[in-house]
Amino acid sequence: MTDDIRPEQFAGDELVLAPDQVLLPEGPASGQAVVVADGYFRAVGPREAVLAAHRGSKPIELPGKMIMPGFVDAHHHLTQSFGKALAYGEPSEIFSRIWVPLETVLDSELVYLTAKLAALEALRGGFTTVVDAGTRAVDDTAAIARAAREAGLRCVLGCICNDLGTAPSGTDRSAILQRARDHLERWRDDALVHPSLAISIPEAASDEMLRDVSAMAARAGAIFQTHVNEHLVAVERSLVQRGLRPLEHLSHAGALGSHVLIAHSTLITPSELIILRDTDTAVAYCPVASQWKGNAVAPALTMSELGIRFGIGTDGTRSDGFRLMDAAEACQRLAFGIAVGDFSAGAGWLWLDQATAGGAAAAGLGHRTGTIEPGKAADFLILDIDIPELTPSWDLGWELVRLGNRDQIIAAFVGGKLRLWRGWPLDWDARALLSDVRERAAAAVAKAPIHRIHPTSGEHRARTMAKRSSALTQKT
Ligand SMILES: [Zn+2]
Repeated sequence: MTDDIRPEQFAGDELVLAPDQVLLPEGPASGQAVVVADGYFRAVGPREAVLAAHRGSKPIELPGKMIMPGFVDAHHHLTQSFGKALAYGEPSEIFSRIWVPLETVLDSELVYLTAKLAALEALRGGFTTVVDAGTRAVDDTAAIARAAREAGLRCVLGCICNDLGTAPSGTDRSAILQRARDHLERWRDDALVHPSLAISIPEAASDEMLRDVSAMAARAGAIFQTHVNEHLVAVERSLVQRGLRPLEHLSHAGALGSHVLIAHSTLITPSELIILRDTDTAVAYCPVASQWKGNAVAPALTMSELGIRFGIGTDGTRSDGFRLMDAAEACQRLAFGIAVGDFSAGAGWLWLDQATAGGAAAAGLGHRTGTIEPGKAADFLILDIDIPELTPSWDLGWELVRLGNRDQIIAAFVGGKLRLWRGWPLDWDARALLSDVRERAAAAVAKAPIHRIHPTSGEHRARTMAKRSSALTQKT
């Protein structure tokens, strides 16, 4: 394929971009131009007016292209990228059999490698921001921050503050709270890394810790993250131990609020939906996690109608913004829409909006990213829309959700800087990273006390072949 645009065109201090379409907060618009300078969108508006006001810079014509905000992954685990196919198709609570064993064998260098691989995958899938829920690796979060910054990915970085169970940080409350304060302070003014505090699941912390950590995050203008109501076994355990469902437990501890982002909320009662609404707590809806390992699908359409804020998260499954939107819609349709004749299932626009602006707001970054508006960080994608699948085009929002594909992403910019060009970075050696990962991952995984239940594809095939041959022997 011959490129009509080249990466060198985007090297200037001020970029005046003139694409066919810009995805604005109110929807796709033609005849617009966008100015990027010092890492921010400086102007967005009718092409002639913007070009006239910026005569000093030669406009970059982008025929057949669209500029859209980068996707926001509202829930990720950057230190789980060595797991991939080891982890899914498994009975619930894979964190206890796979993720915790894997993460706890990672040293600082392996944390850096796995996080950088995950950051690269995220950018390739069109995500310019990811929300990391925190790692259980013994090392501190600096290696993850280094990986995200080097890759050029915006990252809300969780620091886990569990004070019960086998927390790597120990169970000394005052030491954990000091570590949390240090984390908030360390990343407070970073351009790409935004600190956050987390508790893995409510039962991993005392009520005091849930309340204090959540309050500390709120005071610092950071978000507090936790996972709730994902699996039946966890809901039952909470009911037996506390007489409360996990989300009720958080509410009881006084840990909810508009600075809180909870992952999953798939098994949620009407009264818990009301708790979310009344506390203005945000949710990370993780549809692919439901497809691959879940007990249920979060009622995201109902949340949307109730005014509950939510973003869409991968939960470390598959970093592909387009397939994530498709899954978000398909899961609502299959789990809720079909049964009641809701053929729209949010239509296209809801999912595009939630995968960008909604995710940014849920991540506590609504003022900084998620839309193409003057004053926001220039986190955006250049998409090729001159393709058969979008021809003819009748409703670009709908089409991006159902027909869009990551191979349309020509460039990904974060903070105004070109980070990937056609899926690969230009300023660091991603192939060398893959080679390092191949060399190191097998030993790390072999060392981890992972307990898998489900057979691999090869084992499954061998079992099927054995069954067939035994059936044949019996026949003859
Ligand atoms: Zn998670």
